[in-house]
Amino acid sequence: MSTIQETQLSDLLIRDYFVPSEKVAHVQLNNPLEHALLVLVKSGYAAVPVLDSSYKFVGIIGKTVILNETLGLEKFEMERLAEIKVEEVMNTDVPTLTRDHTILDGLNAVINHAFICIVDNEGYFDGILTRRAILKQVKKNIYINAYKK
Ligand code: AMP
Repeated sequence: MSTIQETQLSDLLIRDYFVPSEKVAHVQLNNPLEHALLVLVKSGYAAVPVLDSSYKFVGIIGKTVILNETLGLEKFEMERLAEIKVEEVMNTDVPTLTRDHTILDGLNAVINHAFICIVDNEGYFDGILTRRAILKQVKKNIYINAYKK
């Protein structure tokens, strides 16, 4: 990426581009996997954030880890999902950013993740920054810079 593009992306703040928490599908730590799978299938998302009872961000859960738990010797054993809680299988090794980080920080983070969770200074969940939102901005910058030449 050129220095000009980097400079522009580092001028944009995540606060203007993220999806606020009230519009984000999520599950809670103590929900059974059965409920989490229902949320994922109904929303159409591959993964959603996991929050604790005080709405602090704690991890992410996706369809693949849930379906792995149903694998029997010869068939899917869906009834197992009522017995396992989200906190037992969720992924907690995920980066977070705050509203005050830049879109360039976001770009670096979404290389390995489809979305990044945005938290406040105390860890309360603020929303998500999606790869789609970042790519839109990057595309805009590429056109702006091409036009300048
Ligand atoms: P996108 O870049 O819009 O395709 O979103 C990437 C990923 O972010 C999706 O696959 C979901 O896992 C997650 N995501 C996007 N929007 C939402 C939402 N409103 N609620 C929960 N997760 C979302």
